[in-house]
Amino acid sequence: MVDYFIVGSGIAGVCFAEMALQNNKSILVIDNDSQNSSKIAGGLYNPVILKRFSEVPNAIEQIKLLDVFYSSIEAKLGTQIDYKIPILRKFFSVEEQNNWFAASDKPNLTPFLSLDLVNTKYDGIDAPFGYGEVLQTGYVDTAKMISNYRSYLIKNTLFQKETFDYNALIINEEYIEYNNRKAKHIIFAEGFGIHSNPFFNNLPLDGTKGELFIIKAPKLVLNVIINTSVFILPLGNGLYKVGATYDWKDKSNQPTEAGRQELIDRIDEILECDYEIIEHFAGVRPTVRDRRPIIGTHKDSNRVHILNGLGTRGVMLGPFLAKILFENIEFGTPIPMDSNSKRFDKKQ
Ligand SMILES: Cc1cc2nc3c(=O)[nH]c(=O)nc-3n(C[C@H](O)[C@H](O)[C@H](O)COP(=O)(O)OP(=O)(O)OC[C@H]3O[C@@H](n4cnc5c(N)ncnc54)[C@H](O)[C@@H]3O)c2cc1C
Repeated sequence: MVDYFIVGSGIAGVCFAEMALQNNKSILVIDNDSQNSSKIAGGLYNPVILKRFSEVPNAIEQIKLLDVFYSSIEAKLGTQIDYKIPILRKFFSVEEQNNWFAASDKPNLTPFLSLDLVNTKYDGIDAPFGYGEVLQTGYVDTAKMISNYRSYLIKNTLFQKETFDYNALIINEEYIEYNNRKAKHIIFAEGFGIHSNPFFNNLPLDGTKGELFIIKAPKLVLNVIINTSVFILPLGNGLYKVGATYDWKDKSNQPTEAGRQELIDRIDEILECDYEIIEHFAGVRPTVRDRRPIIGTHKDSNRVHILNGLGTRGVMLGPFLAKILFENIEFGTPIPMDSNSKRFDKKQ
């Protein structure tokens, strides 16, 4: 018998798996590669919602934990995944500059918004009004983390590649059983794949498709992430990740012509140099109607749990939510109601 079956090995599943292993629990992870979100994400972490100049809820705690948590995954995998690099918001007017400096005066944003106007000239970008720098930012190479963590799991016989068969799950008082294997608990972390899950498919997880590019722009010289209507993230060797779009209707993982055109239009607003599109990806973010994550335990069984709704901020939320859910299951520490799946129980 293992302690946990974990269905899904995106950011959510990997964070829970790592949290469990760090606490000497045994696991079996199951994934069928049906969802793309974590594999193609930008992976940026940014404690400020720049559109509204508000702090991401629990930002300080999340950034602190992220630092320690991804470092421990790096040590385990023997490779770098967390890149600490500034995010610069490009200003388009004096008014935008003024809004920035007014926001940086708010006590909750002071640790995250630099008071210095950045006037650096980056080859390939015209920015006469300069930039504002967000502090404590960076990105996690989520594709590398997911694939290397998968290899680690396979090497330790902790992984099964298959489509989870919900009908084969037997739930008993003391344990649960799946294909002749037993576990104390099961964590469902299927991202948008939750729609096939009869235990939780009535939750309001709508999903928001996003598309992004890898471009090659040899004349663009950046050692920071630029944020405007899209982000431009330097990968080295003249390669940049650029994204992303938001589509609330299409729920497929296929790149589209409309997404391609939208990204090209946005890039053309910022870049003054030539570039070539090298790759075009798409995935569905597991977004929830009230914009809060969904973690907790099924109302009919205390062995069946959910870790989902990481939305647009999987990198910051993954370690934070995995810890809350783990401590809730193991020690009974309460889950805050704004993230708790119980907030939907009455409606279920
Ligand atoms: C274009 C784009 C850009 C993004 N950029 C950022 C960013 O810059 N920063 C950031 O923090 N977040 C970003 N995100 C959001 C982030 O990717 C998500 O929050 C995160 O990937 C969600 O992780 P997850 O593990 O919940 O879901 P997923 O990544 O979807 O993982 C779910 C896993 O479950 C598996 N699965 C599903 N159903 C089954 C089943 N029945 N049986 C077996 N396995 C199953 C899937 O194959 C998948 O591996 C972006 C997303 C997109 C699409």
